[in-house]
Amino acid sequence: MSREALDELKQQIPLLDYLQTHDWQPAQQLSRGRLMGLCPLHEDHKPSFLVDPHKNLFYCYGCGRGGDVIRFAELYHQVKFPQALSLLHQWRGLAPLLHEAASFYRMQLHRHGGAVAYLHQRGIRSSELIEHMRIGYAPGGCLRGWLTQLGYSILALRQTGLVTAAGYDAYTHRIVFPLEGNLYGRSLSAAAPPHRFLPGAKGGLYAWEQARRYPEVILVEGLFDYAALWQAGFHNVTCSLGTNLNTRQFRQLCDGLRTVYLAFDADTNNSGQKAAQSLACRLGKHGVHARTVVLPVGHDPNSFLVQGGDARQFQSLLEAAQ
Ligand SMILES: [Zn+2]
Repeated sequence: MSREALDELKQQIPLLDYLQTHDWQPAQQLSRGRLMGLCPLHEDHKPSFLVDPHKNLFYCYGCGRGGDVIRFAELYHQVKFPQALSLLHQWRGLAPLLHEAASFYRMQLHRHGGAVAYLHQRGIRSSELIEHMRIGYAPGGCLRGWLTQLGYSILALRQTGLVTAAGYDAYTHRIVFPLEGNLYGRSLSAAAPPHRFLPGAKGGLYAWEQARRYPEVILVEGLFDYAALWQAGFHNVTCSLGTNLNTRQFRQLCDGLRTVYLAFDADTNNSGQKAAQSLACRLGKHGVHARTVVLPVGHDPNSFLVQGGDARQFQSLLEAAQ
């Protein structure tokens, strides 16, 4: 393999993404975006594993090992250089597979009236929005056949989590939203767990590249909230997929001068408000101006807009945010 091909591979596989899909979590943030966490290469009890996402390098102060993503794969999987390369190629190859699955689910959406009716019920009507979010539907029982016919191996399908160990489609009767390196599936059936992700990291903030251009950004916790706001004309919206931001998402919010409006669910037990307040405080320490939006109790941005609220009323909530 040429030097150029190696460099290209390393560029396509950010070390931090690779670590996060192997369940590594940073414990501390250091200067210049560097991160510190427990070392995945030795029995570590206090964080000694340093990652520099900009340089794409790691170093462990405990076991003294360090290097790039290829070196990490060698040490982590305990394999030699050529085998580490093939593991990394395989990891990179899963991205096209997710893309293919998302396209298939998009084709299915309009063939299933129940799925479209569910979207309507959640206020998603505009075809522009469905296109923008690339929303699809997983009927179940047909993805595996489609992808194997395209030449993908069952092994690869299992590796992404699209197909279960027993060989069935993992997503059944779910609305599907493609994320960066993952697919979120919302169940239509009340009997199944409502929220599902494929194994691996949930990725960064949703549609961050678009939202980050605005001086004021609205952060919501769910994709249906994102959808309702986007449809109401708020295109400066992003979503963290839950109230717990991963390190990557937090760093994204801090990557420029802006005001962040935290519009989490107004749960009756106050958990959304508490999460918003603690996040606002953390953001404040990083020099980001955050304001907490107070919705009527029991509402999230989606229900607020779907059950009679309009863009002007939501704008008033933004203006009243502390
Ligand atoms: Zn170590």
